[in-house]
Amino acid sequence: MLSAVSSKVSVSEPSDAARASTARRDDARARVERRDDDDDDARLRRCCWDAFVTLVDAFVDENARDIVVGHRNQSSRCAVRGEAGRGAGSPSPREGPALCPAADADAPSTRSLDFLTAVVRSRSSSRARRRGASSRMMRLASQQGSSLVTRMGMRRATTNTNRTMQGRARIPTTTTTTTTTTTNARRGLVVTASTPSRTNAGRRHGTPLVRVDAPTRGVYGKSVTASEDVETSNEGRDLSRLWLTNTMTRKKEIFTPRDPAGKKVQMYVCGVTVYDYSHIGHARVYVAFDVLYRQLMRLGYDVTYCRNFTDIDDKIIKRSNESGETCEALTDKFIEAFHEDMAALGCLRPTLEPRATECVDDIIAFIERLIAKGNAYETEGDVYFSVDTLPAYGALSGRNQEDNRAGERVAVDGRKKNPADFALWKTAKPGEPTWTSPWGEGRPGWHIECSAMIEKMLGPTIDIHGGGQDLVFPHHENELAQSSAACGCGAHADENPFVRYWVHNGFVKVDSEKMSKSLGNFFTIREVLDKYHPFVLRFMLLGAHYRAPINYTQRALEEASDRVYYLYQTVHDVRAILRDAAAEEPAKKPVPLVADALKLASEAEKQVSEALNDDMNTPGVIATLSAPLKSMNDFMTTKAGKKAVGRVGALQSLLSTVEGLMEAVGMPKDEENVILAELRARALHRAGLTEDDLLAKIEERNKARDAKDFAESDRLRDELSARGVGLMDGSAVPWRPVPVIDAT
Ligand SMILES: [Zn+2]
Repeated sequence: MLSAVSSKVSVSEPSDAARASTARRDDARARVERRDDDDDDARLRRCCWDAFVTLVDAFVDENARDIVVGHRNQSSRCAVRGEAGRGAGSPSPREGPALCPAADADAPSTRSLDFLTAVVRSRSSSRARRRGASSRMMRLASQQGSSLVTRMGMRRATTNTNRTMQGRARIPTTTTTTTTTTTNARRGLVVTASTPSRTNAGRRHGTPLVRVDAPTRGVYGKSVTASEDVETSNEGRDLSRLWLTNTMTRKKEIFTPRDPAGKKVQMYVCGVTVYDYSHIGHARVYVAFDVLYRQLMRLGYDVTYCRNFTDIDDKIIKRSNESGETCEALTDKFIEAFHEDMAALGCLRPTLEPRATECVDDIIAFIERLIAKGNAYETEGDVYFSVDTLPAYGALSGRNQEDNRAGERVAVDGRKKNPADFALWKTAKPGEPTWTSPWGEGRPGWHIECSAMIEKMLGPTIDIHGGGQDLVFPHHENELAQSSAACGCGAHADENPFVRYWVHNGFVKVDSEKMSKSLGNFFTIREVLDKYHPFVLRFMLLGAHYRAPINYTQRALEEASDRVYYLYQTVHDVRAILRDAAAEEPAKKPVPLVADALKLASEAEKQVSEALNDDMNTPGVIATLSAPLKSMNDFMTTKAGKKAVGRVGALQSLLSTVEGLMEAVGMPKDEENVILAELRARALHRAGLTEDDLLAKIEERNKARDAKDFAESDRLRDELSARGVGLMDGSAVPWRPVPVIDAT
């Protein structure tokens, strides 16, 4: 296996065109990495990612067990140990794609390590091997290991082999340890993996399979470790109440609203700048906060959710000049498009959706107060916020004033008192939309807009402020500075801070690269929804924890699509059975199958509510879906299930649990027929087939079967399957969408 991986890495000489394309990609990646260089969180992620690659690679080699990953740069050292265990349960082949880390290779610390654990377990379980689970999992791991190693440009060399003699002289045991070093020169990554020749040597039962230990400086300048950052222990935490990770304190905190009655909650999430269609990064932010909005309401809070539209901005003015449309027409068009996208994704409309241009008077009044208090100053028609007047400036992002000065060295504006001062009001340039202010004709800056709108719509202090991680600095830091200065409330959680809980979601990457227009890997929500159902995108986004970076790949969408189809098909089939079922006497003593199902149904409800309370752990919610769905299918397809006394009651309980679960994460529960039809239509669209094309193919295959030409019949079935259409022989439904597994 080891040599198979190595030979794939150095397979053949790339063509000049391929080399040029690789060089371009590397350049682009290097640019992104340089930008991220001062971002310790990004370094931690890269470190974990590298470690993960190595783990996959090492575990593909059946016997590797002691892996240490180190960086030449000692400040981000990362040590990983893998240890194989056995017999502790094994995943079914169906779970393979769901556990597959390709969906979030950038967040290896939780799901991917679970995946590796499952691979190791399945490999060492003879029962799983017999069921074929192991070979499927191994194949997945092997494919991913090879492609990831190739993508990372890793080079591998076996450096030494030690033979040691152990045991008593009469029966010596020979252990051959092969040490493999894998290096990546550009990243300065050095990995050593030891592979003892005896498969079972040193394997212990019940020990942790994989441990990641990566001490490094966190993004907020505080020392964190991977285990602290990805908190898994719920010990001592009351999960009947909501916990949120607060960016200000870098801790998971119990949520307590400001309202003395504990009832009202104010949440503000920064909205879009409406100059173009929204992209999948926007989908992620607003799906994440939609789940939070729903959860707050489930917990009985009276929530006011405010999300703004930035409808005055340089980009809008530029786009309007290019297209000849007025700014107003342009922004109206994209606000409508945004509402359509959000509705498609199942996001509830916020309570309030102010536009910046409707609040200019409030913005001007806000700036006047900051000038009067001495926190802002006017120069040649522009107004700046003076960061030196606020000693707490930098508290949210962890940046100190020196960092800010260093960052501003390039473009020093002589009119600013401090290079870090930022604009509150900008003098109008010719041809721009303008408003009259005490400082002349002009328009508001971006940061001040949110401070003024929050105060106008929700009051001077609020409970939750959300947005993407990229807004922490400068946008939210500056909002905090403006609002704290204006209301006199402190930056920290003393008695009455501007915001009690700062909540930020992670980035979306596309095929492991940062998504950006300049890299050309940019997808609008509309482009994705042309091929995949909106609830497939929603389901895929919910499959990663909101704080973790998410890796958007077509493969992840294929897998999410498969899961969503399975979910709605199961709900559809159970409802059909329940409609036809005669009323059933409750069994006095349910058979074990039914008793287990009833227990599962009630436990799943509790697990879901705890997962959502635990800092919106949506992957936990999605994982909880698996068992009730499997149980429902067992009652419909297995002999024992079909004839079990109490089956109808069990199906009813399981269905209502699954419905509750779907509701909790905003997946509609009552439109299974519509959604199944839409999923099938999109699968045909992806396959490039019409309904008639497909019927013709099925007819062609039936003819081949009638003529006993099974080779041709299999060829036709495989051809369709490779295009995402799975034929279902002997079923009432002739076909269903299947994932195109080779999708990257
Ligand atoms: Zn904002």
